[in-house]
Amino acid sequence: MDFSPTGQGRVYLGTALGTLGCIVVALLVDSFNFHNLSPAALRWSIAIDILVPIALAVPMLYLLLSKLRQLATAHDLLRHHAATDTLTDLLNRGAFTREVEEALDDARFSEDGMRGTLLVIDADNFKAINDTFGHEQGDAALRRIAGAIRSVLRAADLVGRIGGEEFAVYLPGTTQLIAEAVAERLRLAVYDTLFTPDGKPHQLTVSVGGAVYDRYLPFAELFRLADQQLYVAKQNGRNRIAVASISHYESLPATAA
Ligand code: GH3
Ligand code: MG
Ligand code: MG
Repeated sequence: MDFSPTGQGRVYLGTALGTLGCIVVALLVDSFNFHNLSPAALRWSIAIDILVPIALAVPMLYLLLSKLRQLATAHDLLRHHAATDTLTDLLNRGAFTREVEEALDDARFSEDGMRGTLLVIDADNFKAINDTFGHEQGDAALRRIAGAIRSVLRAADLVGRIGGEEFAVYLPGTTQLIAEAVAERLRLAVYDTLFTPDGKPHQLTVSVGGAVYDRYLPFAELFRLADQQLYVAKQNGRNRIAVASISHYESLPATAA
């Protein structure tokens, strides 16, 4: 049974425990009079102490706890909507940024957690899809791309839609080698996605930029480096990946980084 704030189990358990508490209190208060009562009156008094709380507390507690459960459910739903991109059901930009910032901060104080990758993914020549097939088909393409990205990730990875046709993925604990493998799998997953806006297949592609870190870096800085790599991937012809480690940047002259 579900005893979480949104679970029906909590309503049943709360009602049962609350009613039991009322019975105990009623018996306790009445017990000061028990020695004055005849055996028949005592039985009657105990029965009243049990039945009255059951008759009053059960419906009242059930109603109250059911309302609290409804509030908890509405709260969860609101939180989900506030953090979700409605088109793709991925995290929205604000939620993605917040969650990655939290993960980076947490890892900062753990022994071996300070390594990972941020990928920035941009759909290639997306304006042409809207111009050729219309905005609705463009939206459908974005959903396809989002599905393809999600299909290659682990449960611990984070993925968000951070702009119009731009996505971002956070891969905690990854080395350069793994980051490149994931970025490539992701690029291929989009490439292999079937998109038939006018009955005929239309090729979808993305370019991926990545920044691999092995020491703490603020999110904004990590994002800037990943975005630079995205620019490199676009410059190199699109439908490709460019992933670099932050040590790569540190070895470059300040003006080139
Ligand atoms: P590049 O390969 O250089 O990234 O080219 P691009 O055409 O993808 O880039 P550009 O920035 O010129 O165009 C992005 C397009 O994405 C323009 C905009 O209409 C479209 N777009 C942004 N958000 C949405 C959306 O929510 N739905 C749809 N259908 N299109 C969107
Ligand atoms: Mg873009
Ligand atoms: Mg684009």
